[in-house]
Amino acid sequence: MRTLLRDGIVVTMNATDTVFFGSVLIEDGRVVELLRDATTTSADRVVDLEGHALVPGFVQTHVHGCQTLFRGAADDRALLDWLKQRIWPLEAAHDARSLAASCELTALELLRSGTTAALTMETVHHTEAACSAYARTPLKATVGKCLMDQGDEVPAGLTESTANSLREAEQFLREYPPHADARLRACFAPRFALSCSEGLLRDVAALTRAHGALIHTHGAEQKAEVELVRRATGFHNLAYLDHVGMLAPQLRLAHVVHLEPAEWPLLRDSGTHVLHCPSSNLKLGSGIAPIVRYLALGIPVSIGADGAPCNNNLDALREARLAAQLQAHREGPGSLPAHQALALITRNGAAALERAHEFGSIREGLAADLVEIDLGTPHVVPSPDPISAIIYAAERADIRRVFVDGEVVVERGEALYTDAQRVVARANEEARKVFSRAGVAR
Ligand SMILES: [Zn+2]
Repeated sequence: MRTLLRDGIVVTMNATDTVFFGSVLIEDGRVVELLRDATTTSADRVVDLEGHALVPGFVQTHVHGCQTLFRGAADDRALLDWLKQRIWPLEAAHDARSLAASCELTALELLRSGTTAALTMETVHHTEAACSAYARTPLKATVGKCLMDQGDEVPAGLTESTANSLREAEQFLREYPPHADARLRACFAPRFALSCSEGLLRDVAALTRAHGALIHTHGAEQKAEVELVRRATGFHNLAYLDHVGMLAPQLRLAHVVHLEPAEWPLLRDSGTHVLHCPSSNLKLGSGIAPIVRYLALGIPVSIGADGAPCNNNLDALREARLAAQLQAHREGPGSLPAHQALALITRNGAAALERAHEFGSIREGLAADLVEIDLGTPHVVPSPDPISAIIYAAERADIRRVFVDGEVVVERGEALYTDAQRVVARANEEARKVFSRAGVAR
């Protein structure tokens, strides 16, 4: 089956950021040819792009699918109160059905707004339900069972022995191997330094090397958290991760807002990827991560929306735009230009997932994971520079089609792979139940 996507602005996000007016030929779910002139090309199916922009499917590298049912229910709190008063009690109250409903809603929101791949951290229990839910969608997810074996005020439903945490995490890695040619993969996801014993973190570091898996965790998000880590361990946050052996090219570290000067070389030399969460960092009052300085040092950076309760959307375009604006404020206009912001949610995200050879740019041989965006809407025109238009003016409502492996999965906001109304109804119903089980008022 050959499909020709004809006559659009192809924003390849390849190494030289090539943009051209032309067509993309897809065969068996992969891009097989980029064409400036497709008049003589034969195909079984032709999709007219009507001059719209075609960009790689967006990749988000820090999302909590398990928290999407808690959207709007934990506003206006600082991080540690946010966790203790709301998020932990609610996560502890999840059962398999509510977690599945949360993850299906997550995938629906992500796909409708152009995100076709994500690195997700779920909760301590029922990770199988999260994986099954994602598997019912086209989302390419790398999923981590959240590991927590200590901490203050952690509800009983979230506590787990070190041995059980590791045994279950390894089981998921066997079921969803990190390098399989499959949509779904597993990784290790220790929550953060304060939730994990030193022994657990050391074991995760060793197991990561053995399995070749990613480690997905949080670090240096807020000053109060950094101070608690220092009091508990005697180390600054990143230095502690180094002490336990976790700083490595497999580490994916969300936030990294507050580093001590001595920690910068550790970050640079370790190969760690920073997962930038601009909306979440603003909403929780964490600060602005110095990502332009990280990028200048060669530290890989990508973007995630974090959890719905601290954002409150999971929209890659919104995050990329905010990232550019925040760096303009922090470092001066132009410090994170539009094409770099777009790279953060495309090829950099794919690199963070170790899947840049599969998606993240529009190139021959890569999966046809694509987003078609109408740049002709009144709030976008005139649009002399398509990348500027995409980052600074367009929004998710301008997305006309989303393709995964060459198949249209979203068209004009409508999900074609599922019944969106049913997903939303089930999410509302399961949210009511999980709040009631947690004894948390909405
Ligand atoms: Zn997070």
